[in-house]
Amino acid sequence: MAIAAPALSAAEIDALNRRFESAPPTEIVRWAVETFGDGVSVGASFGGASGMAILHMAAALKPNVHVFVLDTGYLFEETLETMRRSVPALGLEDLQVFKSRLSHEQQAQEYGSALWMRDPDLCCELRKIEPNRRALEGKTCWISGLRRDQSEGRADTPIVSWNAKFGVVKVNPLANWTENETWAYIAANKIPYNPLLDQGYASIGCYNCTVPGVQGRAGRWQGFEKDECGLHT
Ligand code: SF4
Repeated sequence: MAIAAPALSAAEIDALNRRFESAPPTEIVRWAVETFGDGVSVGASFGGASGMAILHMAAALKPNVHVFVLDTGYLFEETLETMRRSVPALGLEDLQVFKSRLSHEQQAQEYGSALWMRDPDLCCELRKIEPNRRALEGKTCWISGLRRDQSEGRADTPIVSWNAKFGVVKVNPLANWTENETWAYIAANKIPYNPLLDQGYASIGCYNCTVPGVQGRAGRWQGFEKDECGLHT
């Protein structure tokens, strides 16, 4: 059943961004949960540290908060294990996994094998964007863990915005946080995180398109002019 979205005008969104620019992330998450209630959904990847911090904040405020993960079928075993550990550790009561409508075999039959090596945008569309649309069906607010310091392309990430692509209000409570602040929060709250982050991986996505040993998001889609899958652009 669709949940009616509270109407936020452009002026209200501007005012919220001014208000939240110096607010702690927990205050922003609390505002989202109180404003949107069951319309809130947290997108989780179980790859990066900031996503884990957001999950901890959201679940502490609303234990039955809807959480979704996009399982492309190409996730590292460490990522899947982090997801399994996080459910009891963070008390995630409503975690849903969304997959592509196409199996790997069907995708290879229709588009050729190793699509990510030829057309990663199409591969991300099939395995991430379309499932993300289904995950947010009936939702009004999408909380995500983007930070401005993660890449040049994320430097202007707003804290609150209208996301026309998925028809929801998008909230990035950690937009203003640094990597150090994120890790301090993870350590202080003993939050589980992906062990690959201790093995030279700075950003973790599908194993086909992720390499260790490089800073920021430069380890994703090497050889392509691409450092976003399209979910956040
Ligand atoms: S990150 Fe790579 S393997 Fe994963 S969906 Fe995108 S192109 Fe495909």
